[in-house]
Amino acid sequence: MLKIQKCWCGSTHLNYFSPEYSICQECSTLVSQCGLSVEETVVENDQEDFYGKKYWFSHMDELGFPDIYQRSRQDLPERCLYWLCTLLKYKLPPARVIELGCAHGGLVGLMKWSGFNAIGSEMSPWVVSFAREAFDIPMLLGKIGDQKFQFEKEEKFDAIILNDVLEHLPEPLVTMEYCASLLKEDAIFIIQMPCYGENRTYEDMINNNDIFLGQMKADEHLYLFNKNSAKELLNRIGFNVIEFEEPIFYFYDMYLIASKKNIVKNAAEKISQYLLSHPSGRLIQALIDKSEECKANYDNLQINLLRNVETQSQLQQTQSQLQQTQSQLQQTQSQLQQTQSQLQQTQSQLQQTQSQLQQTQSQLQQTEERIAAIESSKFWKIRQAWFRIKQRIGLRIN
Ligand SMILES: [Zn+2]
Repeated sequence: MLKIQKCWCGSTHLNYFSPEYSICQECSTLVSQCGLSVEETVVENDQEDFYGKKYWFSHMDELGFPDIYQRSRQDLPERCLYWLCTLLKYKLPPARVIELGCAHGGLVGLMKWSGFNAIGSEMSPWVVSFAREAFDIPMLLGKIGDQKFQFEKEEKFDAIILNDVLEHLPEPLVTMEYCASLLKEDAIFIIQMPCYGENRTYEDMINNNDIFLGQMKADEHLYLFNKNSAKELLNRIGFNVIEFEEPIFYFYDMYLIASKKNIVKNAAEKISQYLLSHPSGRLIQALIDKSEECKANYDNLQINLLRNVETQSQLQQTQSQLQQTQSQLQQTQSQLQQTQSQLQQTQSQLQQTQSQLQQTQSQLQQTEERIAAIESSKFWKIRQAWFRIKQRIGLRIN
């Protein structure tokens, strides 16, 4: 293991970033502090060395990824097709293309069937022979810098593809300079690699359980670039036209096309026209059609899912309002019952009062009748006459 004292950009101003990474003060690239040296990336013993056979089996298993057998099957209609479509957008056959670190070689196979003169490269002899067998493709073994090309006899490349490779290189600038020398004047690099979003601190990442933490594998990912430092690297080797594409793993990767000259894109019709012009190209076109159909179905599914979530939310809101209304209705009913009960009580009191009034009236009538009876009696008339006499003779009444 090597403690890296210098950033790829040449700066030695490295500050602490995390237990395993420093951050370059010049270009903000994250620099591994426990990565591999150039020698350690070479595979001499396929059973023991880091990028030997065990990298593709036990190491993948440790990381929770499928092994190379499974990957050679499942990557084909997924990431390999995605990468092929990007290449077709920028270069059409006939063109010579090399993919560095091509693993099982699925993309090289798709390129070959599309009509490209495609070749792959890997560090492990076992992986090289697996890829040759699996996809019947030409493969180079070892570092690109060690390859002997004979450009006096063969053409230079139209494109070099590095998917998940640049971050593994111990000397990215040296390797990319060499790669640039293998390219034609109007050629392109297509690069996918992790993207460190600048200004994010390690503490922020830990607190937010940032998905990028999964890319901070310091033994493998020696340099974690950001978009600006990636541009800087390419500018230094003369590639000043850079276009960023949407990466398939958009949540932690970047995906870019770099060229010395203006980039021209191929229209979808032109790509189809080319693919349909030969039998294996037709298979590729069918794969693209099916993939687009799947994507459209998936997008529709997502839209429907979102609509369902929205409808459920509205339903819940309506239910909540209904419950509120029911509760208000119950309250109103209870008030109504209380009012009715008070009304009944008042009516009952009224009836009682009326009954007492009738009783009183009846007693009054009875008394009046008695008085009338007394007044009309003989005794009363004599008593009245006696009073009148007493008045006349001057006697005091009473
Ligand atoms: Zn730097």
